[in-house]
Amino acid sequence: MTLLVRKVKELREVLKGKEVGFVPTMGYLHEGHLALIRRAREENPFVVVSIYVNPTQFGKGEDFERYPRDLERDLKICKKEGVDVVFAPTDEEVYPFGYLTEVHVKGISEVLEGKFRPNHFKGVATVVLKLLNIVRPRRAYFGEKDYQQLKLVEKMVRDLFLDVEIVAVKTVRDKDGLALSSRNTYLSEEERKSALSLYKSLLLAKELIEKGERDAKKIKEKMREFILSFEKVKKIDYVEITDKELNPKDFVEEGDRILLAVWVGNTRLIDNWEVGEPL
Ligand code: AMP
Repeated sequence: MTLLVRKVKELREVLKGKEVGFVPTMGYLHEGHLALIRRAREENPFVVVSIYVNPTQFGKGEDFERYPRDLERDLKICKKEGVDVVFAPTDEEVYPFGYLTEVHVKGISEVLEGKFRPNHFKGVATVVLKLLNIVRPRRAYFGEKDYQQLKLVEKMVRDLFLDVEIVAVKTVRDKDGLALSSRNTYLSEEERKSALSLYKSLLLAKELIEKGERDAKKIKEKMREFILSFEKVKKIDYVEITDKELNPKDFVEEGDRILLAVWVGNTRLIDNWEVGEPL
C-alpha cells in the first residue's frame, strides 16, 4: 500500500519510529528515478519518495511552468515499486508564509551549472535541507546524473552535521545512451537525435583518453566541435573536466569527471561521466 501524504504534520506522524530510505524527486518518474527507488527499497524497511517541483531552484525564464507533472501516473509507478509513502507537498507546506531562511553552499554553487543558473543551487540546498528535516531519513538517494547537485548535498550534509547517509546512484541511460531525464519529454523527434550529442561526445572523450590523450583542453575542444556538428544543437553552456570535487583539471586522470550542458532547441540538457568507468 502506498500512502499519499500532502502535509508535513501528517508525514511526521506516519514516519514516527521508522527507518526511512528517502528519494527526493520532481516527479514525472522514469527509469532513472526507479533505480534510486529500487536501491532504497533494497536497503531500507520503509521508503519515502517526495514529488515536488521546487519553484526556488528555477530561474526567471526557465521551465518551471512547463515542467512535466502527472501525480496520478507517478503514484501508480510508486505503488508498483512498493513505495510506502509518496510525499507531495504544496508550496505553502514547504515555504510557509514569512519564511526567511535559505541555505547557500559556497563555491560549489557558483561553478559549472551555477554560472549559468544563478541561485539554482541555493534553491536546491534549501529544499533538500527542508525535506531532510521533514522526513529525517536514515539514507537519502541521489543520482550521479546531477553530479554537481550530489556533491553539493554531500558537502551540506558534512558541513551541517546532518545525520543521514547520502547514497549515490549511477546514471541510467536510454538504449541509445541518452541520459534519462524528465526534460527529455520536451524534445521533438529531430531534437532527440541531436540530444545524443552529449552522450556521444562523452564516448568520443573516452576514446581519446583510451588512446592516450591526457590534455584536457584538447579533449574539450574536440568534444565541442563534435557537439556543434549536430543540427539541433543551439549552444553549449560548458564542457568541463574536473576532479571528483569539481576543481578544473589540465591533465586528465582516472576518477576525474567530464561534465557538460548543452541546449538542444529550447531544451537544456546535462550529462557527465567518470573517467575510467564504463559508458
Ligand atoms: P529530478 O526529478 O530530475 O529532480 O531527479 C530526482 C533524482 O533522480 C535526482 O537525485 C537525480 O539525480 C536522479 N536522476 C534523474 N535522472 C536520473 C538518471 N537518468 N539516472 C540516475 N538518476 C537520475
